Amino acid sequence: MNRVPVPVADHHVGILGGGQLGRMLAEAGRPLGVAFRFWAPGAAESIAGFGEHIRADWDDDAAFERFLAGLDVVTWEFENVPVSLAHRIGEFVPVRPGPAALDVAQDRLSEKTRFESLGIATNAWLPIDGQGALESAIAEIGLPAVLKKRRFGYDGKGQEVLRSEADVAGAFERIGAVPCILEAFVPFDREVSLVAVRTIDGRVHPYPLVENTHVEGILSRTDAPAAAVSDGVRARAEEAVRALADSLDYVGTLAVEFFQVGDELLANEMAPRVHNSGHWSQDGAVTSQFENHVRAVCGLPLGPTSVAWPTVMLNLIGRRGDPEALLACDGARLHDYGKSERPGRKVGHVNVLGSTRDAALERAEVVRGVIGEPELAGGS
Ligand code: AMP
Repeated sequence: MNRVPVPVADHHVGILGGGQLGRMLAEAGRPLGVAFRFWAPGAAESIAGFGEHIRADWDDDAAFERFLAGLDVVTWEFENVPVSLAHRIGEFVPVRPGPAALDVAQDRLSEKTRFESLGIATNAWLPIDGQGALESAIAEIGLPAVLKKRRFGYDGKGQEVLRSEADVAGAFERIGAVPCILEAFVPFDREVSLVAVRTIDGRVHPYPLVENTHVEGILSRTDAPAAAVSDGVRARAEEAVRALADSLDYVGTLAVEFFQVGDELLANEMAPRVHNSGHWSQDGAVTSQFENHVRAVCGLPLGPTSVAWPTVMLNLIGRRGDPEALLACDGARLHDYGKSERPGRKVGHVNVLGSTRDAALERAEVVRGVIGEPELAGGS
């Protein structure tokens, strides 16, 4: 059989998508004897050198055959893969996590509905299919509120904060006249997320809760672990992720983002994949989210998810900055995605480690000075 062309590999994993998450999965999997092949329709700078890249549209039958030849399991690093493709692949090779996770995560309405059906608290929301529905939803939910496209939103794109009646006027047209949800704007104390990994036999291994800072909707910083997490908050976050993962018979790494208000957690969204708020784990945890995802989908035992070093993860957005200056900073570990620079684009991140949280925070301030402000405008 036509195996993935690497000298020796015990597991052959196919990845749908060709971005930095795929690159970091391959980086983590290779030392374990795992070989990778990618399928991504466009150019995929990040994965160059990390495995064969099948560059073809998702409906290309010849690509389908070439991609699957010799694979043991297929996963994804990009959640807008067609659900029908995941189902079709599943007729030949196990797809982990299963297509149900994609189906739920691709639509904010099904995500919120899933949260609610599992008793996971969310902020108030309503489905929107026109300007009339938006206006009645505003009457119910009030202002400010956030109008979000149900599909294909990421990094704060496809959403608009509505603060006044003037913002509401014409908002449905402005966002593209597509199905949306309206959410109450949450005056949160902070944003946190929980990344966890579920095995084929249903054991869930959570990483610690982390605190995330977004700038214009894009994750800018993760503090791991989050400071001052009460036992109740930790337990609720873990319970929510466990319930969600169990309900999807999920295999691999997943993340849930929450707004924290006092001691309350409101689920905002899920990511059915390795997640930017888990990147700290590459250097700060005993086993990274990437390695554990690969281990989980290959049916291998997972590694510990515990903290080795308190870590601040800083994203490089729009420009990679000066790598030499970054590497010269104490405790800084640079992860470059091999992507060209473009405003708003995540081109790398730096994990800043310390022997204590305070040491990590202090070092992170130095690194932040070297990185400068993110370049956001007009990003993609
Ligand atoms: P999302 O794409 O839903 O993750 O939104 C991106 C970011 O926008 C979030 O991480 C928050 O910082 C902010 N945001 C989104 N929805 C709300 C909301 N309902 N209330 C307050 N801030 C929000």
